[in-house]
Amino acid sequence: MTRVIAILNQKGGVGKTTTTVNLAAALAEMGNRILVIDLDPQTHLGLHFGVEDAATSVYDLLIDDEVPITDARIKARKNIDLVTSEVDLAAAESELAAKTDRHDLLSKKLAPVLGEYDFVIIDCPPSLGLLTINALAAAEELIVPMQTHFLALQGVSRLFETVSLLVGGLNPKLRVTGVVLCMHERNTKLAREVVDDLQGFFDASRDQDVPWKNCVILDPPIRRNVKLAEAPSFGQTIFDYEPECAGAKDYKKLAESVVECAAQNTKPVEEPEPQPLGNE
Ligand code: ADP
Ligand code: MG
Repeated sequence: MTRVIAILNQKGGVGKTTTTVNLAAALAEMGNRILVIDLDPQTHLGLHFGVEDAATSVYDLLIDDEVPITDARIKARKNIDLVTSEVDLAAAESELAAKTDRHDLLSKKLAPVLGEYDFVIIDCPPSLGLLTINALAAAEELIVPMQTHFLALQGVSRLFETVSLLVGGLNPKLRVTGVVLCMHERNTKLAREVVDDLQGFFDASRDQDVPWKNCVILDPPIRRNVKLAEAPSFGQTIFDYEPECAGAKDYKKLAESVVECAAQNTKPVEEPEPQPLGNE
């Protein structure tokens, strides 16, 4: 079964693209077949992988009914295909607004190739416009990278509320798998407080009927590591650039946690043991 995961946070600079690239690379090293899609007009994803923007981008894919995803995907690494973005994508929001199927364009284009992949990972723009809605309609899972700073919890709870409003009837299957703490400074009092607050918020949601009911703080947090910021300028993932550094270790373990999450979430609900009727 393919897991389609949108990497979402309406804030910029929180670690979405870094997480998309290095989570994809770590999952690919484990032998998974991955498709990554850049939905951000800033076009950073291609840069991170060191590939030129493809002639056919996600913009063409969304705008032109005739363009299949097989025309837009390019091979970025062993086990990783990529659909790049382009600057024109910024205009897509208004161009798409007139289409009646404007929410489902990505999901329809993805359908024919889903079976070829273990994971589809969508890097979202820092906004909640039509592009992001296409990601939310196509995905089954959300992973939310965030920084452990003051007001982080407020940002996350507001994001979740907005997502559930947006998604409503559009994609009832969507659930929030987890948050990833990026650029984490483990030993600060602030970081510890934010983690405690977040954990409290998630624990309180367990028995509610909300898409973040099973959301966890994914383990491990990604430590602040300058190598993660350097790698993209060489067009490299952290595993190409410095495979033994803290950033590579963190993303490798994160990928393992993401794989485990599925195992937990798809575990069949245990039937209660039949109770003996009497004591004869
Ligand atoms: P977004 O996609 O949410 O805008 P990015 O992934 O581009 O965020 O990250 C924002 C900036 O922070 C980038 O310069 C990136 O290299 C840097 N960065 C991301 N994660 C880390 C980390 N764990 N340690 C150090 N720098 C990081
Ligand atoms: Mg980004």
